Amino acid sequence: MADYSYPYKDAEFILNELVEFDRLCQAGGLHEVNSELASAVLAEASRLAAEVIAPLNAIGDREGATLDELGVRETPGFAEAYRQYVDGGWASLPFGEEYGGQGMPKVVGTAAEEIWQSANLAFSLCPLLTHGAVDALEKHGSEELKSLYLSRMVSGEWTGTMNLTEPQAGSDLAAVAARAVPEGDHYRISGQKIFITWGDHRMTNNVIHLVLARLPDAPFGVKGISLFLVPKYLLDANGEPAERNDVYCVSLEHKLGIHASPTCVMAFGDKGGAIGYLVGEPHHGLAAMFTMMNAARQSVGLQGLSVSSRSYRQALAWAKERLQGTRSDGSRYPIIEFPDVRRMLMLMKAGTEAMRALAFTAAAEIDRARQARDPQQAARHHSRVELFTPIVKGWLTEMAQELTSYGIQIHGGMGFVEETGSAQYYRDARITTIYEGTTGIQANDLVGRKTLANDGSVLADLLEDVRATARAMHAREGLADLGAALQSGADSAQAASRWLLDNARNDRNVAGAAGVNFLMLLGYVCGGWLMGRSALKAAERLEAGGGDESFLQAKIVTARFYCEHLLPRAGACLAAIQAGPDSMMALTVEQF
Ligand SMILES: Cc1cc2nc3c(=O)[nH]c(=O)nc-3n(C[C@H](O)[C@H](O)[C@H](O)COP(=O)(O)OP(=O)(O)OC[C@H]3O[C@@H](n4cnc5c(N)ncnc54)[C@H](O)[C@@H]3O)c2cc1C
Repeated sequence: MADYSYPYKDAEFILNELVEFDRLCQAGGLHEVNSELASAVLAEASRLAAEVIAPLNAIGDREGATLDELGVRETPGFAEAYRQYVDGGWASLPFGEEYGGQGMPKVVGTAAEEIWQSANLAFSLCPLLTHGAVDALEKHGSEELKSLYLSRMVSGEWTGTMNLTEPQAGSDLAAVAARAVPEGDHYRISGQKIFITWGDHRMTNNVIHLVLARLPDAPFGVKGISLFLVPKYLLDANGEPAERNDVYCVSLEHKLGIHASPTCVMAFGDKGGAIGYLVGEPHHGLAAMFTMMNAARQSVGLQGLSVSSRSYRQALAWAKERLQGTRSDGSRYPIIEFPDVRRMLMLMKAGTEAMRALAFTAAAEIDRARQARDPQQAARHHSRVELFTPIVKGWLTEMAQELTSYGIQIHGGMGFVEETGSAQYYRDARITTIYEGTTGIQANDLVGRKTLANDGSVLADLLEDVRATARAMHAREGLADLGAALQSGADSAQAASRWLLDNARNDRNVAGAAGVNFLMLLGYVCGGWLMGRSALKAAERLEAGGGDESFLQAKIVTARFYCEHLLPRAGACLAAIQAGPDSMMALTVEQF
């Protein structure tokens, strides 16, 4: 198994050249934060990841979380690793200073998150859910709830969970049935939640659940759902965990991957009702939960990148070592010299670099939306965040299915057996297209709320930027043909958007049938745009001299490969979209 390592150079290149990190910090008034500090933070995170968290990844796969009479017991070693993570201040990195956070830009938090996720996806899920819970509480919680819970969740002293799913309510949250009955200054919550990530463990002395439930007078559907905070231990007068609340993990799922992340069936109120506190307004819980889900969706998209990148580094090490070629003089050479192995490695390299560029760009848009003083600028950045979120979630995680599969293929038979670790990345990656909304649900969001609802104007604005990059590439020697390819990708995106605007409003199957192809098309085009910008920046740096020549040249070649091998898929997506839903929907259910 290859040792853990993080692709710093690429992360730093994206931060400096695409995100323009120093400018972003200056514009946001973060005068003490700069790219040097960001690099130091990532180096330190990567050290903890390599020494402490990554070595637990395979152990967690073999010895997943278990359940006994005291609740969930996490994989041995996880509690100590989590303590080091919290003591190092990593949990609080991206949060505002009001509740003890370190106020680092979101984009640095994202780069650090890639490090935790690529080291150990199951471990990283615990902080991920806590982050989402902090965001929702910060935005929607009462001052009292914030003062009691937030700083201890920000520090990582307590962890958070997200309790949406019930057996009958998965993608369709309108069917949520858990109940909340008012009782004095709190509520009694009852019902069952399933698939709750890190719903219980012993790493901290409290777990704070955010739970969707219905009040007795709730209207039917999603407009009747409220959000509640339900602590595992109720707090005493001093704000310390005391009495056990009536919420328990009653069973754990056995699953394909992320074995060390406990996936819990949670019972609320089996002994009379769990005490919970309302977050936000009654019946408006879903809006509050969406705050949590949007943050979590970008983070899950990032998981697609993280696990693919880990799989790539493992496959690369293997491809350099595995000897399967024999020269005429009898000497043997490694499989990295075969074009087909190069094809797979280049797909992994170009794919992950484009995915990283998109994940960081989307995270930086969150920073820019927060920082913007001009309301028009703020609205523009906010719209872009909204547009990017389903693309980051959907495209990065779908790409991860393909890329982690190449990771196995490059290993040959050794990829299929567990020893190299490649199989674990493939299994772990599989969940990422499912939780936090399946790819189908992301596609519905992208077509409906993010495109049709604004007549395609937000996408058109983004495509202006893509075209500007294509023009700049056109004008540059050595990149002109790639500029033409990017222009053609932008045209495909425009044509798909136009086709949806013309057809989706009259036939409800149109949007549903086209959605995932539309999402993938925009993913490939965004990837092409950012790889194109990377190539331009690399060419400028080479011209100016003084940079890391080998890295910069490789960046240009990788962008070329992306434009030649991945970007053309946008055209295939467009053709499938324009074919419409007829053949998809023509068979009767019985004909299947
Ligand atoms: C390991 C794991 C961890 C999880 N962690 C959490 C957690 O911490 N908290 C939590 O609340 N939940 C969690 N979940 C639940 C997860 O979010 C759901 O599984 C997911 O939202 C899908 O719901 P479902 O499983 O009911 O599938 P279904 O909703 O039954 O979907 C089945 C298929 O139908 C498609 N489909 C359904 N509705 C539509 C539609 N409207 N349009 C198009 N296609 C549609 C889906 O895309 C999918 O392909 C977790 C699940 C797993 C497996």
